[in-house]
Amino acid sequence: MLSNLPQQPADALLALIKLHNDDPRTDKIDLGVGVYRTGQGDTPVFGAIKAAEKKLLETQNSKAYLGPEGDMGFVHALMPYVFGKDDPTMGGRIEGMQAPGGTGAVRLAVALAKKAGVQRVWMGVPSWPNHAQIFGDLGLELKTFNHATKAGRVDMDALVTALNLAEPGDAVLLHGCCHNPTGIDYTPEQWDQIAPLVAEKKLLPILDLAYQGLGQGMEEDAYGVRRVLREVPEALIAYSCDKNFGMYRDRVGAIYVMAEDAAALGRVLSNGHALARAAWSMPPDHGGAAVRLILEDEALTAMWLDELDTMRTRMNQVRARLAAAGTAGSVDFAALGHQAGLFSILPLSADQILKLRSDHGIYMAGSGRINIAGLTMGNIDKFIADVAAVSAP
Ligand code: PMP
Repeated sequence: MLSNLPQQPADALLALIKLHNDDPRTDKIDLGVGVYRTGQGDTPVFGAIKAAEKKLLETQNSKAYLGPEGDMGFVHALMPYVFGKDDPTMGGRIEGMQAPGGTGAVRLAVALAKKAGVQRVWMGVPSWPNHAQIFGDLGLELKTFNHATKAGRVDMDALVTALNLAEPGDAVLLHGCCHNPTGIDYTPEQWDQIAPLVAEKKLLPILDLAYQGLGQGMEEDAYGVRRVLREVPEALIAYSCDKNFGMYRDRVGAIYVMAEDAAALGRVLSNGHALARAAWSMPPDHGGAAVRLILEDEALTAMWLDELDTMRTRMNQVRARLAAAGTAGSVDFAALGHQAGLFSILPLSADQILKLRSDHGIYMAGSGRINIAGLTMGNIDKFIADVAAVSAP
C-alpha cells in the first residue's frame, strides 16, 4: 500500500538552507527562507516574548486541555489590532479561534469555505506557494490572475477582469499586507476599489494577514482587511503572529469569521471547531499564551510594538538603500522602494540566480524572491554589485 506513494519534491527553500549552511565562503548572503534578521544577521526571540514566557513559567498552573478553539483570551486580545479599537467585533458579527500558525488558519478558512459550498478560489499569482497546495489538497479549483505588472506595481486590470469573471459564491484570496512573494501591496485607493467589487460580485473573501506591522505600521497594514469587511456580509480572516511576534516555530495564529449575524456566526464557528477537532484537536498553547500575556500588559505591549518598529524601520532602510541604487545591470532596484515587508522579487533568469549562488555566494529562491532582511548595511553594496554583474545587459 504505502510503497505505492510517489516521491514528492523536497521543499526548495529548505533545500536552499542546507546549501547555504554548507557553503564555506565567509561573505555568503542568505536571502532565502522568510524570517526576519537583524543587522547582525540574527533572528532573536523578542524581548517582550522572553518576558512573557518568564511570566508564563511562573504563573501557569495547569496544562489541562482547553478546547478546539484554543486560548480565547489570545484570540480576543488580538482583535482590536486587526479589526480596530472602536468595534472589533463589528457589532457581534466577528469571532475567532486559535489555529496552529497562519498556515493552520488558512487551511481551516479554506476547509470552512469548501464545507459551505465554495468550489472555486480566485487568487493573484505569484503567491505564497502553500496557498495553491492547500486549495489542491482540499479539492478546490484555483483560478489565477496576474498580481503584478512587469514594472512592479499591482496589476489592477488583471484583478478587476478576474473578479468580473468570477461567479457569485466563488472565494477570492487576498493578502492583507506585505504580499509574499512580491512585496507589492494594494494602496488604500486600490482597496477602496476592490472592496465594493468583491461585495457586488457576491464573492467570499479569504483575507490572509501574516505580516501585520511589518509593512507601513499596525494600523496602516490593517486598512485592506477592515475596508473589505465594511463592504461584505461575510468573510474569513487568517492571521499569523509568527512574523510580527517572531514566533515562527511556536505556530501562533488565529482564524476569524465575520458572518451575516450572530446566529450564523455561531453556526460557522461550530463548523470551525469540528474541523479543527478532526485535524489537530486543539492548537499548541505556549505561543498563543505568551502573545496574550504581552497584549494584556501595557508595558509588554509597548515593548513589543517598539521591537516591531525597529524591524520595520530596518527593512525600510534596506529598501531605501536598494532603491537609491536605481538600475543595476538589468534590475530596477528603484521599484523595491515602494514595495513592503519581508519580500520582493528580482526579475532574474534561472541562470542568473544560479550564477549568483555559484560565483557570488548569494542564495535566493528560484523565483527570484529575496528576503529583504537578509541584507545588511555591510553586505548590501556587494549584493547590488553582484546582481549588476550577473544581469548586465
Ligand atoms: N500566509 C502567508 C502569505 C505567508 O507568507 C505565510 C508564511 N510564510 C503564512 C500565511 C503562514 O504563516 P505561519 O508561519 O504562521 O504558518
